[in-house]
Amino acid sequence: MLVLAAVVVVVALAAAVLAGFLFWSAHEIDQSASERQRVRIAQAVKLQLDAVPRDQESAAVWDDAVVAARDRDMEWLAFNIGSWTYTYFGHDESYVISANDEVVYVAHDGVTVQQMDRAFETRRELIEPIVAEVRRVAASGYLDTPPHIADYALIDGLPVIISAIPIVSDTGNIGQRPGREAVLISVVRLELDYELRMMQRYMTEVGRFTTNPAAGADLSVMPIANRAGRIIAFFEWIPYRPGAELLGRTGPALAATFAVVALLLAALASRLRRALNALEHRRIEAERQAGHDPLTGLLNRLSFDRLFDARLSTQTPRDAPLALLMLDLDRFKQVNDTLGHSAGDDLICAVADRLRDVIEPGDVLARLGGDEFAILHSSFAGQVEVTALAHRIIEAIGRPFRIQGSEAFVGVSIGIVIADDEIDSHELSRKADIALYEAKSAGRNRSAVYREAMGEVVQSRHSVEADLREALRVPGQLWVAYQPLCDSDGNIIGAEALIRWTNPRVGDIPPARFIGVAESSGLIEQLGEFVLRRAAQFGARWPGRNIAVNISPAQLRNPTFPDRVFAILAETGMNPADLEMEITESILIEDETVVAGAIRAFREAGIRIALDDFGTGYSSLNYLQRYPVDRIKIDRSFVSQLMTSNGTDAIVQALVTLARALGIEVTAEGVETREQYEALLAMGCDTFQGYLFSAPLTVGDIEVRLREASQATSRVA
Ligand code: C2E
Ligand code: MG
Ligand code: MG
Repeated sequence: MLVLAAVVVVVALAAAVLAGFLFWSAHEIDQSASERQRVRIAQAVKLQLDAVPRDQESAAVWDDAVVAARDRDMEWLAFNIGSWTYTYFGHDESYVISANDEVVYVAHDGVTVQQMDRAFETRRELIEPIVAEVRRVAASGYLDTPPHIADYALIDGLPVIISAIPIVSDTGNIGQRPGREAVLISVVRLELDYELRMMQRYMTEVGRFTTNPAAGADLSVMPIANRAGRIIAFFEWIPYRPGAELLGRTGPALAATFAVVALLLAALASRLRRALNALEHRRIEAERQAGHDPLTGLLNRLSFDRLFDARLSTQTPRDAPLALLMLDLDRFKQVNDTLGHSAGDDLICAVADRLRDVIEPGDVLARLGGDEFAILHSSFAGQVEVTALAHRIIEAIGRPFRIQGSEAFVGVSIGIVIADDEIDSHELSRKADIALYEAKSAGRNRSAVYREAMGEVVQSRHSVEADLREALRVPGQLWVAYQPLCDSDGNIIGAEALIRWTNPRVGDIPPARFIGVAESSGLIEQLGEFVLRRAAQFGARWPGRNIAVNISPAQLRNPTFPDRVFAILAETGMNPADLEMEITESILIEDETVVAGAIRAFREAGIRIALDDFGTGYSSLNYLQRYPVDRIKIDRSFVSQLMTSNGTDAIVQALVTLARALGIEVTAEGVETREQYEALLAMGCDTFQGYLFSAPLTVGDIEVRLREASQATSRVA
């Protein structure tokens, strides 16, 4: 900005200096031009004065004239004096005065005046002195050319040149006494003669003789004095001012140039200011965004952590203790997968709005990422009160959301920690996280307050990711269990591969706790490939068995996934017809071409597709027609509620009937009791999985079972 101001000042100064210089030089040019004009005009005026007696000579220095004046030859005088000097020289009045001072001839405007004496009377005062003077000069003697007197005078208020010349012999044949000759007087009104008119054309705009000059700044005036030194007239003209003209011509162009430069500068300045403003705005926005979650406008993790630290460090023993509530939405992933990411975003915003309504004044609400929120609750009386707040939150989030025309249900699990003596924000966050997992594993949609005992068994979710990375790198922690799949007689006809993680520090970690982490961190592809390879190796050893592998939506969305699967099949030698892929129905709803293409590619290769957890999602039956599947797996939650007279039996019956009508196999999952088995069998279920038949087994154990089964069959055969 300072630079710009400097530029503006410099340009303004330059403009001022240039303008000043222009005006000064224009003035100088005009000044000298004016001087030159004055000199030229003075010369021209003088020339005019000198011209009159010279013109007179052509008539006055002539033998005939001497004779005519002496003899009063009116005819000769009329022709050669009156008419000729008027016509050729523009002499307005002519007077011939005889040697004895009598008027011999008078002509006005080329015409002889009959009443000479009267005409002379009006000019006597002018004529007599000049005649006397010319006689006096002539009397002192002259050679060829007689002396003459020319002067300025006023006649009838008009400036004139009056000139007197003796009439003398041109040949010298007629002798006269010097000073006693007849005299010719010519009067010429001061007008623009040829010379002046030429000058006027080239140098002046308007010039005129006047006795009464108009006062004006743009008029030049030259006084004309007679021989006695009396000013009798003026020549005034509008001077030609080349400087002014130059200024007039270049001025507007220069002014326009400066105006354009000024405008450009102004535009530049405003652009610069706008750019600076925008930059400042962006900086503020960036700062704001750095501290806020752009989707919900809530504080983000960074600023929440800072604020939490600040609160803890200024906390005094007299203050009410702080409570940290860690929130994680239940089933959010399902909504996101089912309705799409934009619906997911809308849902997050709607959740944020409800949370804003529920929290109390002074509470701090933040979105830590994904579907995680945190609340810093400050003014509470005790654990009962903070649990009540948690319940209000659970109740608020539990109400259905209307998202993009669909109804969505999510829940929220809340982990709570109360900062009694603990002032380390990281430690408190870790504990809240542990409590949150406790709440989740206790069945979701509930809250849990941290207790010391939890920490020993529950890992924080953030350490799960790091540990899982480690587990994928170092062999030994991850392994695959196989849960037998049985036919209606309870014979083992295949198995479902299920990932297992035995962590050296915390022991077995259930898939429910780390599959989600693997999906959100991108580790799922590696994890999925690990399971698939193990399952394929197993399947290659047991051809003809149906080996099922769970596939995450994230894996299916990767366009290279089918190639990876085929490569593993080739590498292990497993028959594709023995492989079954368990997908969840939410992936079908996405209607992604990549997913659809992958499913088609698998089916074309002979790989079977099973719909896992059937009935829990957004069922759905029409998807069965759009995406042909080979098997549906009725979810454990249906099976466990059979025979509880809440309509589950009817639903399951309908599902089985429909599936069979479509030629789709039906597997019941989580069959734990004989009653369930028999009921499902009666409904028409083909295959079964559950603790009633077998829990998931190690590869060694299931191979024992498979061997027994094949021996039994061969014995039967
Ligand atoms: P799922 O595919 O529905 O697997 C069946 C789950 O039910 C398994 O839990 C199994 O141990 C459990 N189960 C089987 N029979 C019974 C029963 O009679 N009663 C009860 N209460 N449970 C039974 P698990 O192994 O904990 O796996 C949980 C979920 O984790 C699986 O559900 C699956 O969705 C996912 N999962 C497991 N392994 C993998 C994997 O390798 N890849 C992917 N993407 N997901 C996996
Ligand atoms: Mg499964
Ligand atoms: Mg299942």
